[in-house]
Amino acid sequence: MIPVVVVGAGPVGLSAALALRAHGLPVLLLEADPEGRRRPGSRALFVHRETLRLLDGMRPGLAAEITGYGQTWHTRRTLYRGREVYSRTFPPPSGLPPFTSLRQVDTERFLLAACAEAGVEFVWDAEVTGVRTGPEEAVLTTADGRAFSTRYVIAADGARSAVRAALGIRMEGTHGDGFHVVVDVSDVPGAELPLERVFHYEHPGLGGRSVMRVPFTGGFQVDLQCRDDDEREEFGTEEAVRRWLPAVVGEGYAERILWVSTYRFLRRVAASFTDPHGRVLLVGEAAHLFPPFGARGMNSGIADAAAAAEAVAAGTVDAVAGFDEVRRAAGLFNSAAAGAALDHLRPRRRIVRVKQRAAATLAPVLPWCGSWLEHAPYGPRHGAPATAGKY
Ligand SMILES: Cc1cc2nc3c(=O)[nH]c(=O)nc-3n(C[C@H](O)[C@H](O)[C@H](O)COP(=O)(O)OP(=O)(O)OC[C@H]3O[C@@H](n4cnc5c(N)ncnc54)[C@H](O)[C@@H]3O)c2cc1C
Repeated sequence: MIPVVVVGAGPVGLSAALALRAHGLPVLLLEADPEGRRRPGSRALFVHRETLRLLDGMRPGLAAEITGYGQTWHTRRTLYRGREVYSRTFPPPSGLPPFTSLRQVDTERFLLAACAEAGVEFVWDAEVTGVRTGPEEAVLTTADGRAFSTRYVIAADGARSAVRAALGIRMEGTHGDGFHVVVDVSDVPGAELPLERVFHYEHPGLGGRSVMRVPFTGGFQVDLQCRDDDEREEFGTEEAVRRWLPAVVGEGYAERILWVSTYRFLRRVAASFTDPHGRVLLVGEAAHLFPPFGARGMNSGIADAAAAAEAVAAGTVDAVAGFDEVRRAAGLFNSAAAGAALDHLRPRRRIVRVKQRAAATLAPVLPWCGSWLEHAPYGPRHGAPATAGKY
């Protein structure tokens, strides 16, 4: 049987390869980077319960491996200008946790090992540069002149997808102004910070910028929302982080910074998730880009991967069209939800800040006000097609 070709060995491509193997299909995975590459940073930290279920369906036991390594915290805390407005500790769940938190590199490590065990064939150093599709097949060409023909391609080659570009599929949507800074910091062994997620609105030690701290195994991620007119040099370099980090977590972490990155707010969804012949299925960041709050990027990408593999296994025009329709609708839903989160997180209108301030004032007497402040930065939580953000 001709292998299905997956392009890209990020978390979404690896999941697509696993899902195809679970359907009994042979898989060839083409990756531009060399074998053994090191990818930086915590990036997409959250693996939601729905995603764990999907991964376990692809490779039984994988969810237990990932949750065995990741962290699940049970306390969420929200502060407003230095004053606590919400704090809740949930009882530890029985069964699969609602989420687990680990660096994306670690998630990818588990997925890569699972793919190897499942018999996925890898071709490293294979940068796809061209795609041609027809009614019966797709042909991929690589930078070094190789050609691969197959019946179906699942393209998971990320935000700058060469496959999407070669097919001429547009990304539609918007981008916000400004940026945020993402920092990974390693724990001080024996003096780990409390295992809780803390969101701080208008932090007084950061000139009123909002900041979040999220634990992962071995350390924590700090996410600082910069103002539209902030310069990267002021906040987004390692030297700058050394200056402002003590305001968030105290002294003693300057030498423990592992990674600093700035990140812009893109909200874009591909005009179509397939080519006109239904031979190439776009998944993950090749198909959509969302701001990270709400953890929609990787989680919805893995849901795309599961749906794409199912459509390829069915092997019908209708199944591929159904994938396009359902996953694009999920992409648009997630894009709108990420927009709502962003409106709250980086208010454009004064009224939003006024509402936040009023809620912070009323939180001690009206607990739902504190709860609103706690939940709103991540966007809507209910009514989403598979795997929208909820953390
Ligand atoms: C700097 C940065 C910070 C981020 N921070 C966060 C965060 O804080 N929270 C969050 O939720 N998300 C974050 N993300 C987003 C998150 O990392 C993505 O949602 C996730 O990586 C998407 O996975 P993917 O598999 O679709 O794409 P990717 O992880 O981008 O994987 C694409 C793969 O395809 C390969 N590839 C690319 N082009 C080709 C080609 N032409 N041929 C063959 N292979 C190719 C690449 O080498 C890569 O291995 C961040 C991303 C970046 C870049």
